[in-house]
Amino acid sequence: MSAAKTKQQLLDELKARIEKEDPTPELRKGATQLVFGDGNQDADIVFIGEAPGKNEDLQGKPFVGASGKFLGEMLEMINLERKDIYITNIVKYRPPNNRDPLPAEKEAFMPYLQEQLDIIKPKLIVTLGRHSMDVLLPGLKISQVHGQPKRYKDHVYLPLFHPAAALYNGGMRQTLIDDFASIPAILKKI
Ligand code: URA
Repeated sequence: MSAAKTKQQLLDELKARIEKEDPTPELRKGATQLVFGDGNQDADIVFIGEAPGKNEDLQGKPFVGASGKFLGEMLEMINLERKDIYITNIVKYRPPNNRDPLPAEKEAFMPYLQEQLDIIKPKLIVTLGRHSMDVLLPGLKISQVHGQPKRYKDHVYLPLFHPAAALYNGGMRQTLIDDFASIPAILKKI
């Protein structure tokens, strides 16, 4: 009998399968590469953003631009580093000119995101912005539920504002920082 596959092997296979099955040919044609995910596959927390931007598209890693820097600062605030968490996006190819991902594009990537989460099995899934919240926690308004942990279909979620939206908006920035600060207590309770 062959040994069970490691999480890394399963994630590598999933990445290869997305490339082969090509769920969004138009996005793929306009992008440099697939931005699959980054970080620790044994993490307790997975963060899910919207879609890669220019820097992410070039480097092949999520959240390496300005919003990634802000995210890193907030992680530091709660004594975590990038290597302690796993991070990905709902849509895994950069939309042209950083436009919002279309509903069909989010749907096309949804089964792969579910598989990615099934492999990693985090305790807490943090959605960043309304796009990843909409696909995982449908029917909620981010302005009303941000910072409130939600149990839904066998997972615990924490919806947060997107760091890019909060970066230059003083009020939203502070709200995001405050919500972020509640993560350790939420993790402890799960
Ligand atoms: N914004 C996102 O939602 N994802 C990234 O990877 C970068 C910026």
